[in-house]
Amino acid sequence: MQVSTSSPTEVVDTEFVSLDERFRGLDGDFVVERLHTGSRKSEGPVWFPAGRYLVWSDIPNSRLLRWDETTGAVGVFRHDSGHANGNTIDREGRLVTCEQGNRRVTRTEHDGSVTVLADSYRGKPLNSPNDVVVRHDGSIWFTDPPYGITGDYEGNDGPQEQEGQYVFRLDPASGALTVVADDFVRPNGLAFSPDERRLYVADTRQEPSHIRTFHVREDGTLSGGDIYATCDHGRFDGLRVDTEGRIWAAAWDGIHCFAPGGDLIGKLLLPEPVANLTFGGPKGNLLFITAGRSLYSLRVTFNGARYPTAAA
Ligand code: MG
Repeated sequence: MQVSTSSPTEVVDTEFVSLDERFRGLDGDFVVERLHTGSRKSEGPVWFPAGRYLVWSDIPNSRLLRWDETTGAVGVFRHDSGHANGNTIDREGRLVTCEQGNRRVTRTEHDGSVTVLADSYRGKPLNSPNDVVVRHDGSIWFTDPPYGITGDYEGNDGPQEQEGQYVFRLDPASGALTVVADDFVRPNGLAFSPDERRLYVADTRQEPSHIRTFHVREDGTLSGGDIYATCDHGRFDGLRVDTEGRIWAAAWDGIHCFAPGGDLIGKLLLPEPVANLTFGGPKGNLLFITAGRSLYSLRVTFNGARYPTAAA
């Protein structure tokens, strides 16, 4: 396999579309850098504060890549990654990965070993876990659409054995896996509000693609599920929330930014369709964007929401 691991950083043409005064904080230097290109499809960025590096997925090449903030170097973090898609970091600083080709969610331990956290529900294989987030109580929430089993490009062609495309909550201590939402067509990106009282989940294949919002009860069950925002260009994928409660959602023309109430307040247009994003850097104000074949970064003047924001 051809492994491209480095490319010079370059500033790319982009456009900041402000629709509302609440679309603020991007007025640092307005510079978007392409940190790496050469993947087949970039996804799942996650920042590791202790190591000062970013890990992200190159799904078709079944590898995880790593960008080192201190040097700008890019290398292969893991190959074969099981066609890893979404990644996150748990409360102990460990990598949690949706291996959509392997139809499982795993955790990479501090010694480098990989623990399978979930690979079946009610005795049948999961579809292909797509994206994942960790709540303050350590529970792991992930979506399970079938993108990794509908062909060999992004996973392994195979039958869907689950009756639906669920949003799951996993208790990593007991291994208990619970369906928290069962009425999605293609559940995809997900994120909690800063106080973790709301959960936002994208449904990529609705017409139009949209994001729904749920009330999160303390026991981890959900209520509500109203449509929060609809996509006016392509489809939503990954999403993140900042400390002001604004939602930053990946779409085909760039990132769409929504106020906490759901108003579209601005866009950051990018040269490739965006799949996912995350906040990182020592101050949490580097916005990392996985789009098309590339990894982009932008320094902003606000910070991404981090757990445990409610329970700290
Ligand atoms: Mg996704």
